[in-house]
Amino acid sequence: MKKALFPGSFDPITLGHYDIICRATALFDEIVVAVGENADKRYMFTTEERMAFIEKAFAGNEKVKVVSYQGLTIDFCKKLDIPFILRGLRNPADFEFERAIAHTNRDLAGVETLFLLTAVQTSHISSSIVRDVIRNRGDYTLLVPESVRIENIEKYYIH
Ligand code: ADP
Repeated sequence: MKKALFPGSFDPITLGHYDIICRATALFDEIVVAVGENADKRYMFTTEERMAFIEKAFAGNEKVKVVSYQGLTIDFCKKLDIPFILRGLRNPADFEFERAIAHTNRDLAGVETLFLLTAVQTSHISSSIVRDVIRNRGDYTLLVPESVRIENIEKYYIH
């Protein structure tokens, strides 16, 4: 069974992530979406919330699994015996950043990284823009899958 790990913060999942996962399911038997838990990062949503948004978006899709992890992505790949990392590329800045990580991951662990170019319609979307829209009372629903509906959203408003 050909599996790929799609690691990220998914804080929250956006239509860009959603597009990459959907397209990758045509290439792999299983996509394991790995939600990072990095102690140094301050997330808007808890690990459970970030996972639940993704699980709900792919409910009924047997090819998509959602897990959380801490530590190095390659160590987690080894633990699950997954030889491929999947990443999305939006622009040249993403490429420069991802290139160094992909080389390092292959050198250290022999894990290959596969990149999918983002769809034009979603290439401008990032989780950080979504968080900014939420904090400023904008209509975030245009940027995320329908599964992302935020309860008690007032607690995130900055003014
Ligand atoms: P990280 O903190 O690891 O960058 P993200 O959740 O921001 O985590 O992104 C996870 C992956 O999804 C990355 O490969 C990123 O390039 C990709 N991605 C982010 N936004 C989009 C988008 N709009 N379209 C396609 N891929 C995206």
